[in-house]
Amino acid sequence: MSEYINSQTTHSRIVIVGGGTAGIITASLLQRAGQTGIAIIEPSEQHFYQPIWTLVGAGLVQKETSARTEARYIPKGVRWVQDAVTEIDPEKQYVITHSGARIGYDFLVVAVGIQLNWNAIPGLTDAIQRGDASSNYSYDLAPRTWDLIRNFKGGTALFHMPNNPIKCPGAPQKIMYLAADHFRRKGILKDVNVIYGCSTPAIYGVKEYAAVLSQVVARYGIDTRFKQELIEIRPEKKEAIFQLKGDPAQQRTTIPYDILHVVPPQSAPDFVRDSPLADPDTPKEGWVKVDKYTLQHPNYSNVFALGDVAGTPNAKTGAAASRQARVVASNLVALIRGQEPTARYDGYIACPVITAYGRMLLCELDYTHRPAPAIPFINTFKERYDMWLLKKYGLPWLYWNVLLRGGTIPLMAKREVPEGLRV
Ligand SMILES: Cc1cc2nc3c(=O)[nH]c(=O)nc-3n(C[C@H](O)[C@H](O)[C@H](O)COP(=O)(O)OP(=O)(O)OC[C@H]3O[C@@H](n4cnc5c(N)ncnc54)[C@H](O)[C@@H]3O)c2cc1C
Repeated sequence: MSEYINSQTTHSRIVIVGGGTAGIITASLLQRAGQTGIAIIEPSEQHFYQPIWTLVGAGLVQKETSARTEARYIPKGVRWVQDAVTEIDPEKQYVITHSGARIGYDFLVVAVGIQLNWNAIPGLTDAIQRGDASSNYSYDLAPRTWDLIRNFKGGTALFHMPNNPIKCPGAPQKIMYLAADHFRRKGILKDVNVIYGCSTPAIYGVKEYAAVLSQVVARYGIDTRFKQELIEIRPEKKEAIFQLKGDPAQQRTTIPYDILHVVPPQSAPDFVRDSPLADPDTPKEGWVKVDKYTLQHPNYSNVFALGDVAGTPNAKTGAAASRQARVVASNLVALIRGQEPTARYDGYIACPVITAYGRMLLCELDYTHRPAPAIPFINTFKERYDMWLLKKYGLPWLYWNVLLRGGTIPLMAKREVPEGLRV
């Protein structure tokens, strides 16, 4: 750990590292709860609403609609340090930034999101550079996904889902269904071999949703290859090499492709993975160790983590980050007041799986790993047009205008505001 103090040494009572979905919502909630002395450390000029990148890749919206000026969403009275954290010392309670500033804190919230490891699969970056592979996991590449889909005349369209945890694990199959639906509407689906090269053993981990998605797969005639881990791409031959997961013989399959949608392996950012906050049980990814209910670090009680970087045992989604922010804000306020942090995150995640242009299945789960539907009155266990409208228009509006401002979505308010936040 660095030992220097320079003229850039400052202190904030509450430091939030990362001003993405989780960081901004937490800051807004803390500010609404009357807390002062908050700093957000965030390097980016722009704030991104990443869930819309699926629709960018499907040619439905421009990528620019997903980006807005970060400054608009920093809550009033919160200090924005436009810099990147490079080091955290939880013993001495400070962080070091890229520019060399040392910022001390009383309470720390880690919300730095996920790191995309493009170099972790040999040939991946070359395949991207060649132009016949793309990924909705990048703001700049998502438009290329649409170019590949709309210019496709027939052959093999390969969609990849990696082995380790990723943000929005539904995203790799959403773009596959949209592509297949586009090919169907264009009348070329019969000339296309859509392959899903996927590391999981089934289309979805919960049987109620898997049943619906299996029908979607059958409808498009998708060739699913489960338990397959992508280990290499040979861009010049347009081949993807998969290895059967857990196979002692390490059996390999080569899948030639014409277009490829690929998902980079993901982890916590390196400086988090290398810090004392990282969970030794996830050495490869380095997620921040937290109590899965209170989101408090077990070794450093003044440290919380949430969003994609937190080591909770569930899927990493914006919906989870939003729900977690309420728990972190509530528990932090309790701690500041010398009370027990009693708010608990129930593991809620929402994964809106788009199954066609105009159709969506809303998968909702909690730590019980059972469906946890939050929207009352309607049957969300089927593909729906109204859910599609929610995804395309409703959620982006709610994100920018309600959630980032620390508000709650009315229909889901009962589940969204834990007791402890009523401060
Ligand atoms: C293609 C795609 C589709 C998705 N679809 C959905 C969906 O339908 N529904 C859903 O709920 N979720 C979806 N997600 C996931 C969702 O976007 C994330 O789970 C969510 O953004 C997580 O919030 P976060 O704050 O943890 O991370 P982010 O929102 O990524 O924010 C992390 C922030 O930390 C900042 N940061 C990084 N490094 C540093 C550093 N060193 N110092 C300081 N700051 C740093 C970054 O600049 C960023 O602003 C999707 C994601 C993708 C890519």
